[in-house]
Amino acid sequence: MTTIPGGLVDAHCHLTVDFGAGGGIAGSRAAARAAGVLACRDAGSRSGIVVEELDAGREVAAGKFLAPVGGHLKHLLDPTPPAALLEEVAAQVTRGVPWIKLMADFPGPDRNWFAPVVNYDMGLVAEVVAVTHAGEARAMAHVSGPIVGDLVTAGVDSIEHGPMADERVVEAMAARGTIWVPTVGTIERHTGPLEAWRRTLPLAVALGVPVLVGSDELGPAGVAAEAAALVRLGGLSAADVLHAATEGARSALRLPVQDGDAVTVDGDPREDVTSLGRLVSR
Ligand SMILES: [Zn+2]
Repeated sequence: MTTIPGGLVDAHCHLTVDFGAGGGIAGSRAAARAAGVLACRDAGSRSGIVVEELDAGREVAAGKFLAPVGGHLKHLLDPTPPAALLEEVAAQVTRGVPWIKLMADFPGPDRNWFAPVVNYDMGLVAEVVAVTHAGEARAMAHVSGPIVGDLVTAGVDSIEHGPMADERVVEAMAARGTIWVPTVGTIERHTGPLEAWRRTLPLAVALGVPVLVGSDELGPAGVAAEAAALVRLGGLSAADVLHAATEGARSALRLPVQDGDAVTVDGDPREDVTSLGRLVSR
């Protein structure tokens, strides 16, 4: 048995998107907790989550998805045209939203994740980052295409997905302290496994990039599955992945362990990542 203080941390969940756990924040939260996931960063929603609905100290949330018409799945998008983007970001930051969620690109009608449509030009993205940082918030960007390095250069704080990040981009992330949530289990569903992950993910960990575990489309109980995928597809060690799902995430996302929070799993997750899926108690 191994006890994990604070439980697991999900760096990329969507509390209001129904992945089969039952709709709404309460359903997502219950599914996550039943799987030992006691803290999470919500990575966006159609209309933005009301901060008061969150479990303070255990949950943080991004504002509404920022994308222009056609820039995200229709049922998840209340579009923000480029001309309205900076005003929307400023309004979110003023409301105290800790993370801005930019949909930097999104697959077009051909559904090609590696050649997606770019949603906003990079000069505008740099202005978004400036407004976000001026309001003491941070910017996270969904990206699946080749602009991942440009987003790092523009100062985005957290790269979501980023399957095309190469060694050069990983080095830039390390230099800037950029967080990387590769969501390999989710991307695998769309593109199949990527050989590049076996080079870029271990390099990122070696260089000190905060590589974190995000369930995304695996659903609120999906942290153990994503952790296993980071070992299976990304070539990371079980110990590195355990760090990513615990202290690494807490430090990068500023979610300290809350009093009384702990989970116990069957086995030693430093040696065997699958033990994260065998919850004994919480
Ligand atoms: Zn997501």
